[in-house]
Amino acid sequence: AEESFVAVVTGANRGIGLEVVHQLARRGMRVILGSRDLARGEAAARSLTHDKGSIFPYQLDVADQHSIDQLLKEVTANFGRLDVLVNNAGILYDTWENGITADLATVHTALETNLFGAWRMCQTFLPLLRQSNNGRIVNVSSEGGSLASMGGGTPAYSVSKASLNALTRILAAELAGSGILVNAICPGWVATDMGGAGGRPVQEGAAGIVWAATLPNNGPTGGFFRDKQPVPW
Ligand code: NDP
Repeated sequence: AEESFVAVVTGANRGIGLEVVHQLARRGMRVILGSRDLARGEAAARSLTHDKGSIFPYQLDVADQHSIDQLLKEVTANFGRLDVLVNNAGILYDTWENGITADLATVHTALETNLFGAWRMCQTFLPLLRQSNNGRIVNVSSEGGSLASMGGGTPAYSVSKASLNALTRILAAELAGSGILVNAICPGWVATDMGGAGGRPVQEGAAGIVWAATLPNNGPTGGFFRDKQPVPW
């Protein structure tokens, strides 16, 4: 059945999102590669080799409701369904900043993409997801958003991911019984533009996200996981 599934991955022209696209396509899905810049998304799609499934680059800026509405129109017209939504787009790992003196405009910018971006995507695509028998929402979060291990620093990023975790809980509760599973996933420290050198390869970071995107119908919802294991909120 996965062969007929349609998935959307946000922020997928590089980093972890691109590898999530790769792995979902390898499982046979039709995967929409969302990219703020369509040309970069098209180049990223061409860079992947996969013998099953297919990859479709589309313009998508999750900070722009108009762009999201446009994607909904195209997905509805061209595919008529959505089974998997991976909210991966993320910005502003503000290691140079602290909460006491943080520029709140920067915090606001982080929230626009990391929280409201995912929220807009869920709101806009839920009517399609509800029609699926295998609806899955994966919010790519971070242990940096865990209140259990919250320390000082990275205030914009940490607040945005803690908020994304809260949204995950709320949507999972509200969608209980709908068949749609909603989970937050930490990919671990991954070597990307954001993560920098030294992290693990994108293949490993993406694997836990793909796991949550392909859970069976009796799988968990409203959880926070890294490498398929629960991590504290
Ligand atoms: P990258 O910086 O490598 O890639 C981020 C991606 O998000 C890019 O494709 C970027 O597009 C896109 N993006 C940013 N803003 C928007 C927007 N408004 N609309 C659409 N796309 C957008 O990051 P990673 O791959 O490392 O991170 C992916 C996710 O994983 C993020 O949510 C991040 O917080 C999370 N994460 C990463 C960790 C790591 O160690 N790398 C650790 C924990 C969590 P563009 O190219 O146009 O800028």
